[in-house]
Amino acid sequence: MDSTTTITPLGGDVYEIDTRMAGYTGIMAAYLILSDRPCLVEPGTAGSAPVVRRALAELGVGPADLATVVVTHIHLDHAGGVGDIAESYPGAEVVVHEKGARHLASPERLMRSARMVYGDSLDTLFGELKPTEAARIRAVEDTGVIDLGGGRRLESHHSPGHAKHHVGLLDSRTGDLYVGDAAGVYIPETADVRPATPPPDFDLETALRSLRKFRDLGPQRLLFAHYGPVTAVDDTLERSAEELRVWVDAVSDARDQDLDLDHAVAMVKERTDARYALTRDGDPELVAKYEVLNGAEGNVAGIMHALNRHA
Ligand SMILES: [Zn+2]
Repeated sequence: MDSTTTITPLGGDVYEIDTRMAGYTGIMAAYLILSDRPCLVEPGTAGSAPVVRRALAELGVGPADLATVVVTHIHLDHAGGVGDIAESYPGAEVVVHEKGARHLASPERLMRSARMVYGDSLDTLFGELKPTEAARIRAVEDTGVIDLGGGRRLESHHSPGHAKHHVGLLDSRTGDLYVGDAAGVYIPETADVRPATPPPDFDLETALRSLRKFRDLGPQRLLFAHYGPVTAVDDTLERSAEELRVWVDAVSDARDQDLDLDHAVAMVKERTDARYALTRDGDPELVAKYEVLNGAEGNVAGIMHALNRHA
C-alpha cells in the first residue's frame, strides 16, 4: 500500500486518513486531530483497523498516546473498528451519543440486524464490531465536550435524521465541523452531494433541523466521512437539504403510485440521475464505488420506511 496517499494533511494539525474501506480508496475517511490530546474521529470499519493503526504510527501516535476516539454515529462504516482501535490504544476514551453507547459495549444486536441487511457481504464490507469495555465509553447527550488539550475543544452536537444517534463535531480552534453522514455524501471527484437516508431512522424534518443547526454553528469547513473537506459551507449545506427534499418528493410519488421497491428505485433514479455529474458522465468504476457505499436502493427504502411511519 502506498502510504503517501493514505494520509492527507488538512492544516490545523488535522489529518485525513483514507481507511480503505472494503479495499476502496476515497470512500471512508477517518480524521486525526493531532493536538496535545490526540483524537481520532471515526476509526472506520473493523477491516480498516490495521490501516488506521499504521497511519497513526506514521503520524507519531503510539499505543499510549491516543486520548480519544469519537464516532459521529454507530453505523458500521464509521464505528465498526471501535473495538479493535480501543484495544490497541488502551488509554483512549470512546465518545458516542447516548443512543448508540450500549451498542458499542454490546454489539450483538447491532451485528445481528446488520447481518440481516448485508448477508455475507457484511464480512467484506465491514467485518465484526468488537465490544468495548463499558467503563471506557462516555455517552454524550444533546451536546458534549472533548478536551483536545491546550484549550482546544471538540464540541458534539446531536444531529439526528440520518440516524438517531448521530452527532456533528465542531473544532473550537479550526472551525472544522465533522458532519458524519448528516449532510449526506460528498463526492470529491465530481463535487456532487447525494443524500444518505437509510432505514430505520431517516426522518426528513429531523434531518433538515440538524442541517440548520450545523449552519447556525457557523463552521469554517465541513469534513465529510464520505469524503473529505469542503470549504463552501453554506452552499453545500443548502445543497444537502435540497437533495433530501428532491429524493423524498420522488419516493413519495412512487409510493402514491403503489410501486414496489424495485420500481420505486428505478423511478427515483430516472428522476434524479441527471442531477449528479457522477451519473450524468457515468464513470462506471466511480458509479459502482458509490453504489456500494450509498446505493439508491438503501436510500429509497429508508425514505419509504419514514413515509410509512408518518402515514
Ligand atoms: Zn456512512
